[in-house]
Amino acid sequence: TYVVTDNCIACKYTDCVEVCPVDCFYEGENMLVIHPDECIDCGVCEPECPADAIRPDTEPDMETWVEFNRKWSEAW
Ligand code: SF4
Repeated sequence: TYVVTDNCIACKYTDCVEVCPVDCFYEGENMLVIHPDECIDCGVCEPECPADAIRPDTEPDMETWVEFNRKWSEAW
């Protein structure tokens, strides 16, 4: 899965939401998040993010971000 990280906070762009083929972006408290079970790992959103906030969970120390993205995807 891909996850949104804290560079997203206060970013006003939604380019990532527009390109996602499965609509798995959700609004968190003050940033967007990706539902980790719905993301199909296509990677299309990553280069669209002007804040470089979208990272693959294969990078180190991403577990906390995966859980954060899950929590806010299911929060409402
Ligand atoms: Fe959507 Fe693909 Fe980005 Fe996952 S990697 S959030 S499926 S655009």
